Amino acid sequence: MRHALITFGNEESYGLLFVGGELLEHHQLIRYFDGEDNDVIENILKWTPDFIMFSPMTTFYNYAIAISNAIKNHIPNVVSVFGGHHAMSVPDIVQLDAIDIVVVGPVRGSIEKILNGSVGVIKTTLTEPSDLSIPARHEYYRDIPRMAYRYRKFVLSIFGCPWNCAYCSSSCRHMRELFGVDAHSRYYLNRRPISAVIAELETIMQYDTKEIEWVDDDVFVGNEDWMIEFLLEYKYKVNLPMYVSSTSVSILHASDKLLNAMKGIISAVGLGVQAGRPESLKLFNRQWDNESKMKAAYDRLTSFGFSVNLQFIIGLPVKDPIEDAIDTIKCVQRIGAGSVCSCYPLMIYPTTELERYCIDSKIELNDMCNGDTNSGITGIKFDYVTNKRLKNICKLATLFVKYNVDEHWIRAMLDIDFNNVTSKKLSEARYKDCVVDRLKLDGESIFSKVISETKLRY
Ligand code: SF4
Repeated sequence: MRHALITFGNEESYGLLFVGGELLEHHQLIRYFDGEDNDVIENILKWTPDFIMFSPMTTFYNYAIAISNAIKNHIPNVVSVFGGHHAMSVPDIVQLDAIDIVVVGPVRGSIEKILNGSVGVIKTTLTEPSDLSIPARHEYYRDIPRMAYRYRKFVLSIFGCPWNCAYCSSSCRHMRELFGVDAHSRYYLNRRPISAVIAELETIMQYDTKEIEWVDDDVFVGNEDWMIEFLLEYKYKVNLPMYVSSTSVSILHASDKLLNAMKGIISAVGLGVQAGRPESLKLFNRQWDNESKMKAAYDRLTSFGFSVNLQFIIGLPVKDPIEDAIDTIKCVQRIGAGSVCSCYPLMIYPTTELERYCIDSKIELNDMCNGDTNSGITGIKFDYVTNKRLKNICKLATLFVKYNVDEHWIRAMLDIDFNNVTSKKLSEARYKDCVVDRLKLDGESIFSKVISETKLRY
C-alpha cells in the first residue's frame, strides 16, 4: 500500500517521522510531501496514494482538511488518517468528509487496524517509551530535501509533561483523562532508551546539522542520572550545540552536577515565563511560578554560563490585555534584560481549560489565530486597536527586552504602522538575534543561509 505523509511548516514534522517508521516496519511504501509546496496537491495526486496521513498542529489543521478534500475529490477511495495532539483533542472531526480515521494515542498499535480496513476513531493503548519505531528520517530527507539541510533538527527523549498549563493541549490533565494516571506516567513521563536517542542522532549527523533542539517540554523532568549519562555519550558521539526548554521550578531543583554536565553542550535554555502578573499566571494554571523563582532560575542558568531565551505569551482574556502585556514585558526585563526573548500571541487550543474558561465566560474566540508569533494574532477576538497593539508588541518584544527599552518608549510604539518591508525586516532581525544568541560565532553565517532558503512568515 502507498502512504502519503503530508507535512507542514518550516520545522521538522517529528510525529510523522515516527508514523513513517511504523509504516516501514509494516513493509509499506511511504512518501513525504511538503505542504509548503505550491503544487503539493498535484504532487500527491501524481503518486496515487492509498492512504493520506496528517499530523497537523492546530495552526495547519484547516489547511490539512483542504488538502484532504482536494485529494479525495480526485481519488475517492483514498483513506485519510489524522493523528497528533489536535486530532486527539477533537476526535469528533472524524465526522468530516475529509477524515476517515482519527488516531487517539501513539501510532503504535494503529497501523494493523488501519491496514485491516478499520475506520472511525482508533484509540491505541500506551506501551513503553522504549517501544517506538525508528523515525523514518532518511525517507523524510529524501522526499523533502530542504529539511535535510535545515540547520536545526528535533530530538525528543520524553513524550509528556508533568505540568498542567491551562492553554496547553498536551497538558498532563488532558493526557491523564485520556489514558489514566498510571499509563500516562509510564509512557509520557519516562525517557526513551539512551541507545535509541543516540542512534537517532547518529542518523541526523549524516545530514548537514548545526544544532539540535531538544523538544522535551522540560529538560529537567525525569531521571537526572539518565540525563548525565546521555550527555556524556552525546558529547562523545554528537557534540552539536543543543537548545532545551525548562521551567523555573525545574531549573531550581536541578543539581549542580547536571548543570555542570550540560556545560559546553547546551548552548541556550528556553525559560518559560509566560506571564508577569500573579493573576495571569493563575489563569494559565501556573500559580506555582512567580517572578522571584523565575529570576532565581535565570540567575542560576547564567551563572553556569548558559544563554537564556525568555518565553512569554500576550493577548490574554483579561480586561486590559495591553496593560497585561506591558506588565509581562517589564517582568521579563527585570528577570533578564539583555537576553533574547520569544513573545507569542495566545492560542486557544481545543479542549483546553482555557478554551473552557473562555466559553464559560462568554469570551469570543478568534478563528483567524494561527499561533504564529509573526502574525501576532491571538485566539481571543479583540477589537482592531487591541489587535494591532498586540501585534506590534509581538514584533518588538525582542527589542524591548534585549535593549531594556523604557516603558514610555514601549507605549510610544504601540500604534506604529509597519509597511511590508519593515515588517519582514523586523521578523528577520528577531530571528537573527535568536540564532546568533544560541550559536554564537557560527550564528551569523547560519542565519544568512537559513534566511536565504526559508519562506519566513511575517
Ligand atoms: S510546561 Fe509546556 S508542555 Fe507542559 S503543560 Fe505547560 S505549556 Fe504544556
